[in-house]
Amino acid sequence: MNNRQIVKLTERYVANTYARYPIALVRGKGARVWDADGKEYLDFVGGIAVNALGHGHPAVMRAIRQQAARLLHVSNLYHIAPQSELARELCRRSFAERVFFCNSGAEANEAAIKLTRRYGAEWLGGKYEILSTYNSFHGRTLATLTATGQEKVRAGYDPLPAGFRQAPYGDLKAMEAAIDEEKTAAILVEPIQGEGGVVVPDKSYLQGLRELCDQKGLLLIFDEVQVGMGRTGKLFAYEHFGVEPDIMTLAKAMGGGLPLGAMLAKEKVARSFVPGAHASTFGGNPLACNVGLAVLKTLVQGGALKNCVKMGKVLFQALLGMKSRFSSIRDVRGKGLIVGMELDLDGTRIVEECMKAGLLINCTAHKVLRFIPPLIIGEKEIERGLGILEKVLARR
Ligand SMILES: *Cc1c(COP(=O)(O)O)cnc(C)c1O
Repeated sequence: MNNRQIVKLTERYVANTYARYPIALVRGKGARVWDADGKEYLDFVGGIAVNALGHGHPAVMRAIRQQAARLLHVSNLYHIAPQSELARELCRRSFAERVFFCNSGAEANEAAIKLTRRYGAEWLGGKYEILSTYNSFHGRTLATLTATGQEKVRAGYDPLPAGFRQAPYGDLKAMEAAIDEEKTAAILVEPIQGEGGVVVPDKSYLQGLRELCDQKGLLLIFDEVQVGMGRTGKLFAYEHFGVEPDIMTLAKAMGGGLPLGAMLAKEKVARSFVPGAHASTFGGNPLACNVGLAVLKTLVQGGALKNCVKMGKVLFQALLGMKSRFSSIRDVRGKGLIVGMELDLDGTRIVEECMKAGLLINCTAHKVLRFIPPLIIGEKEIERGLGILEKVLARR
């Protein structure tokens, strides 16, 4: 099938929830992908921060083959070796002491919300409310879209679950003022806002939230679904800020392209989850977890994290250079290989023109071009991609 035929099928049979570009990607290698008509693209989207190791990484393929031959699924009625091992590796490398596995970012946040409710009932005298931030993104289930501080995500879904409110991101005073002594149980934030336009807060913000939570006995939850697993050049984004949460959620890059999410927590919180309190049929399944182990190993020992730091600098410097040449570029910000370039115009057309010229790039929050390429990307590929972008910007 070619692009046109696949587009026709999608439009006829698939639920109409996405505004898609009129191409179908059918093959990938490293930081490159090909569409059904054979056209090659440089991939600066990486499945929206999922394909941290790019496409067709040998370690990922090996882990899939190995586990597929052994065992695909058994259920959490039994112990699952790759799940237990992955939990140990995540705890060894983070603040956490326990891990609940699921299949997506929304589910990881849903688990964090449910754990907060249980903990609140047990230890906080029945407090249940979760404060999050405007322009955040936490997922599309009813609870997580209610935590998400964007009207467009919630429109049409009333009545929404109770127990969620928002404060402006980066504003410690506003968060403090929003706390309801009778109801608030936790503060939920992304250490760097992804969908909200790659917003990097001041160190003092996250540190202040930690202090606030400690003073008031609240839980601090970090949603690292997008910025966790090496994206920022450290395994977890919170490591940049010298602050540890009580709960953290992960997904996107964790499964190397397979659906895998997790909620990590300190033991004092995690113990509020007892047998029967929460569950997921596929959560922590052998295949996804074996790939998760391979991804983690490749990040830490295989040099992908180091490459991310190096290429992050290359990308950032190059974008700063572009900023000095184009008055339409307002700001460049980010960490590691999540970088946002804010324009003074709608980025939609830029994205379309880049695509025609062979570069896949994403725009979020209307005006922010978001660079989230595979962490294994090379300097030549960055140069080539930015060459395309520069030509597109110069035409405007
Ligand atoms: C993508 C994302 C989610 C939702 O993840 P899904 O796997 O799409 O459910 C939640 N939080 C953040 C910060 C994200 O970027």
